Amino acid sequence: MSQAGFPVYQDLCGWNAMLAPRQARQRAVGTIRVRYAVVGAGYTGLAAARRLHELEPDASIAVLEATTIGEGSSARNSGFMTPSDSKIGLSLGEMDRAEQLNAFSKEGFTCLTDLMAAGGIDCGLERSGRVTAAATDTGADKIRTMIAGAKVHGFAHQALDRKALAGLIGSRYYQCGLRIEEGYLVQPAALVRGLADTLPAPVRVYENSPVLDLQDGATWVLRTPEAVVTADVVVLATNAAIKQFGFWRDGLVTIYTFAGITHAMDASDAARLGVRTWGLLPAHRLGTTVRRVGADRLMVRSLYAYEKPLDPAQVQKALTSCFHRRYPDLSHVPLQYIWGGTTALTMNGSPRWGRIKDRLYGSAGCNGSGIVKGTLLGKRLADMIVTGDPQEALQAVYGRANRIAPEPFRTIGFHAVSAYQRRKAGQEM
Ligand SMILES: Cc1cc2nc3c(=O)[nH]c(=O)nc-3n(C[C@H](O)[C@H](O)[C@H](O)COP(=O)(O)OP(=O)(O)OC[C@H]3O[C@@H](n4cnc5c(N)ncnc54)[C@H](O)[C@@H]3O)c2cc1C
Repeated sequence: MSQAGFPVYQDLCGWNAMLAPRQARQRAVGTIRVRYAVVGAGYTGLAAARRLHELEPDASIAVLEATTIGEGSSARNSGFMTPSDSKIGLSLGEMDRAEQLNAFSKEGFTCLTDLMAAGGIDCGLERSGRVTAAATDTGADKIRTMIAGAKVHGFAHQALDRKALAGLIGSRYYQCGLRIEEGYLVQPAALVRGLADTLPAPVRVYENSPVLDLQDGATWVLRTPEAVVTADVVVLATNAAIKQFGFWRDGLVTIYTFAGITHAMDASDAARLGVRTWGLLPAHRLGTTVRRVGADRLMVRSLYAYEKPLDPAQVQKALTSCFHRRYPDLSHVPLQYIWGGTTALTMNGSPRWGRIKDRLYGSAGCNGSGIVKGTLLGKRLADMIVTGDPQEALQAVYGRANRIAPEPFRTIGFHAVSAYQRRKAGQEM
């Protein structure tokens, strides 16, 4: 994070760089008076702004974004989305909660796919299925447990051995895996750009307009470098950067993770990438995500860093190694784009969400799956604000993020746990 508290990236987002250039919207300048100010134009903020407009079409709404759309974390991710959080691996006692979670995920997913269809958002949505695969014996144990869970729950799935995986992804790196149908891939920068650029005209989006200060009074006053924005109600959709405003510091950790996309490959190299569309998640949560990108590229995502980015040379070396270990026959192919992004983690995986104080609301802590969850939580936050519905069912199902130990124990704890988990992850990384 920068000193200002919002993420400032030194590297360009590869997904954004692969698209045609986009003209950023105006900066916020001068005095702006609105009913609603939404801070952050990621999936959460864009969904909140759109829904506020649906529910109150005459209300003035400003979305203030620190960077440009396509350069925030909503574009820097791996582009995996699903309408159903898998029930695999859950005990029968947890099935009710899984059903309810799935209903919310489906709402967020449908919201996105409806917007893609209505707005003609070309973000390469593909039903890829979702593969979880193991490269280590410990990972293979986890896959076997997942397969057993899938059988118990009667969940449609496909167990994959090394040969079947090699046929699917073109690599013999993994011992075994599990594939379920309900997995989709998108080009995340194209999606978030499309969501912003199809907002109804009364919703004003200001880019390159970081909110530096938030003051309470009869109305809220938000200061950006060139504007003073006054709003009746404020929505903080900044994910972990909400800590910069002094809120929820006890529940959120900012984690950087890193991704790279290869150069476009020639036909003979691209023929080594397996079937046309696939996305693979690691059996260990600190492992490496891999996906095919279009006909001739591959993406790898790996490494985690606590609160600040890693040295770019270290990231380049590690991501290149992740790629070449999986595809030794492609070791002459370099990564063309390498970038990092932030995500907000909570201890128990539940988001921090809802009313912060009078006329101030927030949503943070999507725990690495914010495309669908952020969309859902942003939309439902707007419902709560306008209708006064406390959203009890949603809060009960997602739960509430619990407290994290204060500093310095938090940093010490993070480094100890991640060193242990890295050792455990081994070749899953
Ligand atoms: C490498 C990587 C891979 C990932 N893979 C996936 C995946 O495959 N699938 C998935 O669902 N999720 C994935 N995630 C997580 C996902 O990107 C996040 O959960 C998602 O971006 C959260 O959306 P959001 O709108 O809540 O927050 P963000 O996308 O972080 O948006 C918040 C916005 O607020 C802005 N902001 C912050 N402070 C201020 C300020 N003071 N003033 C104005 N604006 C401000 C930021 O610039 C940012 O654009 C991944 C994340 C990373 C980094």
